[in-house]
Amino acid sequence: MIPFLDLRRQYAALAEPLEAAVLETLRGGSYVLGEAVESFEADFAARCGTRHAIAVNSGSSALHLALLAAGVGPGDEVLTVPTTFVATVAAVLYVGAVPVLVDVDPETLTMDPARFEAAITPRTKAVLPVHFHGRLADMAEIGRIAEAHGLIVIEDAAQAHGATRGALSAGGFGALGCFSFYPGKNLGAAGEGGAITTSDPALADRIRALRDWGQVERSVHLLRGYNFRMDTIQGAILGVKLRHLAAWTEGRRWVARQYDAGLSERVTCPAQASGDDHVYHVYAITHPARDGLRAALADAGVATNIHYPRPVHLQPAYADLADGPGSFPVAEAYAARTLSLPIYPELRPEEIAQVISAVNGFVDAQAGQTGRFDRTACPEEIAI
Ligand SMILES: *Cc1c(COP(=O)(O)O)cnc(C)c1O
Repeated sequence: MIPFLDLRRQYAALAEPLEAAVLETLRGGSYVLGEAVESFEADFAARCGTRHAIAVNSGSSALHLALLAAGVGPGDEVLTVPTTFVATVAAVLYVGAVPVLVDVDPETLTMDPARFEAAITPRTKAVLPVHFHGRLADMAEIGRIAEAHGLIVIEDAAQAHGATRGALSAGGFGALGCFSFYPGKNLGAAGEGGAITTSDPALADRIRALRDWGQVERSVHLLRGYNFRMDTIQGAILGVKLRHLAAWTEGRRWVARQYDAGLSERVTCPAQASGDDHVYHVYAITHPARDGLRAALADAGVATNIHYPRPVHLQPAYADLADGPGSFPVAEAYAARTLSLPIYPELRPEEIAQVISAVNGFVDAQAGQTGRFDRTACPEEIAI
């Protein structure tokens, strides 16, 4: 079986430096925040082109604290999308604000700026676009509209570590950027982790206090905060892994190019990226017979996944945020047809070829064709 994701391959390539970093932490006797977290924060901020990065214990906590620090609260509306992981929407509810969903663009699957603009009301306080599957949302247009209406821009960059457009990187477009280091993300801890990026020193101070029970100095609780601190061991691991993020991203893009070139025109591949604005956290194709395709791939030894089978407003816990099916036609049509293929830098050329031939075999047979797609081994090696 070709695994959908195999983190053991990444670990095997970095076992020595990772184990050294973990041992050093264990021997150091300090296990929460600390030097390894501080140096990771500095490196990650530099990578995102922001003045600050504040490490926390998950991407969900990052979203929660970004909204709190921005002063979003009861009575405020936050505009975001249904095509995302539920955490984006849940964080808005955590701070007592109202998530207002707007449909996504059918090509990019990120927030449709025109729908965003049309949904602004006097109660709108912030906009929370999601860089879905690792593709940057239209931040120029979203930023322009937000500025014209005095709205705070907070990026959900949990899937987009290192994506860039022009001089800016994910996490550096808005006032605040939120990242997850869940193990399967493009940059993953050996457990939970997250970070908030910002270039505003006042926001950074507030978030640093909020993640540590609102303390501005020991035992002075200026704010009502939380325990959202990052473990030292995760900071140490992330510090080692961050050095490989750029190469891993190139590896993901290489796999994506093989899929783009090799997959049948009977499946819809992700819209072409305009440059470095897509880091392929997920490579999802769409096909009308998605469930049959998924079953055929499983039979052919290819594990797949669905991100996500339902848009947030069709999840039982969040159904009150919209009027049921039909509320967001683009998001719903996409969810019904999407299928995520394995994509990680350690995926082997022969595995990529096997995925392509399994997909093409099914869709060609389905279309009543006799000819089978024949693919020779991929020419280049993936540099990790
Ligand atoms: C993973 C993810 C989150 C949540 O991050 P956790 O670290 O799992 O809490 C939020 N938003 C998006 C888009 C994600 O993919």
